[in-house]
Order: sequence, then C-alpha cells, then structure tokens
Amino acid sequence: MRASKLFFPTQKENPAEAEAASHKLMIRAGLVRQLAAGLYIYLPLGLRVINKVNKIIREEMSAIGAQELSMPVLQPAEIWQESGRYSEIGEEMFRLRDRGGRDMVLGMTHEEIVTWLAAREIRSYRDLPQVWYQIQTKLRDEARPKSGVLRTREFIMKDSYSFDADEEALEKSYQLHIQAYKRIFGRAGVRFYMVESDPGMMGGATAHEFMAPSSAGEDEVALCPACGYAANMELARSQPAQPQFPAAGMKEIETPNARTIEQVSAFLNVTPDLLIKSLLLITDAGPVLAMVRGDQELMESKLARLIGGYRLAEPAEIKEITGAGTGFTGPLKLAIRKVADKGLEEGVYIVGANRNGFHVGGVVPGQDFQAEFADIRRVRQGEKCPHCNASLKLERCIEIGNIFKLGVKYSQPLGASYLDERGKEKPVIMGSYGIGPARVAAAAIEQLADEMGIVWPPAIAPFAAHLVLVQPADSRQAAMAQKLYSELMSSGIEVLLDDRAVSPGVKFAEAELLGCPVRVTVGKRAIAGGAVEVQLRRGGEEYKFEAGVAAREIIGLLKTLEGEAECESASEESS
Ligand SMILES: [Zn+2]
Repeated sequence: MRASKLFFPTQKENPAEAEAASHKLMIRAGLVRQLAAGLYIYLPLGLRVINKVNKIIREEMSAIGAQELSMPVLQPAEIWQESGRYSEIGEEMFRLRDRGGRDMVLGMTHEEIVTWLAAREIRSYRDLPQVWYQIQTKLRDEARPKSGVLRTREFIMKDSYSFDADEEALEKSYQLHIQAYKRIFGRAGVRFYMVESDPGMMGGATAHEFMAPSSAGEDEVALCPACGYAANMELARSQPAQPQFPAAGMKEIETPNARTIEQVSAFLNVTPDLLIKSLLLITDAGPVLAMVRGDQELMESKLARLIGGYRLAEPAEIKEITGAGTGFTGPLKLAIRKVADKGLEEGVYIVGANRNGFHVGGVVPGQDFQAEFADIRRVRQGEKCPHCNASLKLERCIEIGNIFKLGVKYSQPLGASYLDERGKEKPVIMGSYGIGPARVAAAAIEQLADEMGIVWPPAIAPFAAHLVLVQPADSRQAAMAQKLYSELMSSGIEVLLDDRAVSPGVKFAEAELLGCPVRVTVGKRAIAGGAVEVQLRRGGEEYKFEAGVAAREIIGLLKTLEGEAECESASEESS
C-alpha cells in the first residue's frame, strides 16, 4: 500500500475527551473516528487491525472444530421472552417495533437465537457435539460508553456456542475453548490472565474471563504470584489477618458523638478491625443488614448476588427500622435479614447499639446475634491467597474474552433437546464463549505503546513494514524503494510505502505513531553506501542491510519478531 493513496487522517493533538491511551492513539493514528457516543467508524488502518485479530480467531476456532455461521442482529422479542431475559435485562437492550407492530430487539448477544436454531435442528445424540460461532455486530445501550472502543454501544464480537450431550462433554468443549483462547491472545501478542469470574446475566455455574492487564481496564483482578490463583474482584477470595480480640461479654459503651468507624475507633482507642460496620439496606423483599469488619469494605456485586438489587436506607428509614439515628446501627435485637461477612464468624467485636450515643462491646457473632455468613467483602492488596499463604496482588485489566458453562439455562426454556442412545429425550448442555476483537486491539495498544505512539505486536499490525522513502523526488531513492517494496510484497509481506511529498520529519513521526513493527528507510545514505536502515519499533534496535540482501534480511527479521511477540498466559508465566 502506498501512503499517498491511503486514507489515514492523523492528528497531532490528543482528543480532549480521551483518557485511555488506546483511545487517544486510535484517534491520532487515524484508526477510528467517533460518530456519536459509543459509536465508532473504523477507518482503513483500524479495520486492517480488526481483520487481523479476526483472522487469528477464525484459524484457532477452526482448529478446535468450531463452524462459522451468521445470525441476525434484528431479533423477535418473543424468543427473548421465552428465555426470560426480555424482562431480566433492563435498559441495556435496544427494543423496537416493526411495521407490523411486532416487538423486536437488537441482539446484545445470541444465546437465544442459537438455542432457537439448535431446538429445531439438533435431534439425536448423533448430532452432538456441535460448536457454532460467528463474528457479528452486537448492540448494547450502555449507560456510559467510554474509553474509546473499550466500551461502546455497537461492537463486533466473536461469540461461539457449544452443544453437548452431558456435563462431561461440556467440560471437553470448555477446555477446547480455553486452549483456543490462549492461542488467540498469545498469537495476537497481548499479555493476559485467565481468571474465575461471575456468570452474571449469562446465568450458569462456571465462568472464566481472559483479562489483559492495563490501567485503562474497568475490571480488577486478584492474583496470587505463588500458586496462580486468579479471580475477578467480583468473586475473589482472601484470608485477611485477624486482630487480637478482647474477651467476650457484651457491655454497652457510651459513644456520644462517635458515629463513623473512624470516630468510634478513635474515641474508644481501638483499631477499626475490632469494630463491625453495619449497613442498613433496602431491597424489594424488605430491609437487610449487611456487616463487614470495620477496616474492610463491602463488595457490592458479591452482596447483590446474594440479596438482589438494593439501595442504602435513608436516615428516616434507619430511624424507623433501628429506632436510632445514623451511625448507631447494629445487629443486636434487630429482627430483619442479616448478612455478615464470612470473616466475622470468628472474633469479638464492637457494634452499634441501635440506641443514640451507644455502641456495644464484647459481641460474638453467631452467638450474640444470628446472621447468614457469606463472603461479601472486597479483597485488598496484600491479603493472603485463599489457597496458599502468599500475598495477593490486585491489578486493573481489560476483559478481552469470557467463557461460560450455561448448562440447560437456555436449552430448557427454549426446548433444545435430543434423543439419547435409548431414545430418551434430554436437554442439550450448552456453553457460550465471547471475544471482543476491538478490545484485543486496544489492549495491545495499552500494553505496548510509548510516548511516540502505537507499538503493534507483529501479528495484528496494520502493516508488517513501514518503508520510508525520504525523497520521492530523487529518482535513485524512488527506484530503490520501489524495488524493495516489490520484493517484500511478492514474498507476502505487507508494506506501507510512504511515498508522499511531505517532510522526512513528518514521515518518521507518523511511522512512530502508526507503530508498524519494522521501519525501513531508503534515503541519501542508502544510495551513497548501499545500506538500507532498518529500525524495530519495539525496543528501537537498528540494523543496516546492504541493498541487495535487504528484502531477505527484513523477512527473516519479521519472522523472528513474530515468534518473540507471542505471549503465554501471563498467569502461567508467574506460576
Ligand atoms: Zn496462592
């Protein structure tokens, strides 16, 4: 490709609204343009990258026997009503009506549609297993689209679905996907962790996410460097250190103006880990008291899995339910549902007395008050791993893929069943597996970019080599560049030849910004001494090749680079 013919509108300045490095650089390098909130146009360079990611995905999906198909984005609401998600999913789903007055939705995922298909076409155990996938548009009416292509309202997703006869066979399909995903992200050159995750709106029992470490990520994961334990914060576990507890024996203590954990612990001269933080919450099923240790924080998603949606009680509600003002709430003599963090099963604590100006000390949870004990706290950096005793590390990540064991969650309501060897009808056991190609590209930018611009991993770079022709008007330079260009292209190397009549400074700066793995310079020196200068974008290493052998040397260099850039799962690296 000649740069003089390529549409890549670059920008010197960072877009004002952009925070994530990938967002800034994708705009500046002319990869994407924003049409409206969460809606992006992929320009030629951006689309080349996405297509490369998709090519790797197709190769690896095919390698595990998955078959590509394509399902509509526009879907009848009826199928979503049958699965129950039409009402479960709120405003995130785009809903509309067709001219005949039928309710329709724009697909945010395709479990319902693929199960509809399986229900009609899979009949017998002989038809199983199946793995079907597509690389297709999804639409989600995100409340806050942000971070460029990381959270958008319309996006491309690779989604695959497995259909098996039983749980054991599902486990096989699940493991095959894990294998394929590790190959895909590894080949794309993105560092990643595979972590335990919350099945969330997909339902089902087991789920994992593939997480690319990056400060631009919206997720946080807990990692154990010793045993490889890795989990999304939404369900990560830990063993916090326990304090020295005082003797049991309940005693009311006057705490006149102390309401917060800090005030009470300062007033009583005890550390916050000897207090219980009690939060009064309102749910559709009535009030709930949630308790965590004074120095810890409630993890909202963990609690929501247990009690459903909730909000904090207003001061008037606290007064009505506990009989006291804000800051004196506690579990004693309170006849409502109580959930206490699992860590509170042990110890002796100070709690609110449900009486203005008072707390109660010497309280033993499980003895002085009853509660459901469950893990509802936020894991903190440095707490002990739940499996070994090493310190956990927290890291922000971009979710680039996820896999779910769905079981019969969709096959049952949508009637996808098969006849087994004895002619008995059984529900098909399903799995669902996603990858966001744009997030893979953005994660690569986040992980590798420097102050000059993007640094693409070779496998997903828009071009393998960026050939800078310094003076296009110099016929000898032009001829040498053209020859090199043809030689590389005929060997299957994708080259961007910068033949534009702009200053060499602009050309070099844009080569850095675009981030192709190898920059090849044909200028005065190449003509004088016959040496072609080659510089690696990653690391900046320089080479000089004689013009006659330059093409061959560059091809060899690119092969080495591609091998070196492949990433193993980062969690395996550390274990
Ligand atoms: Zn561990």
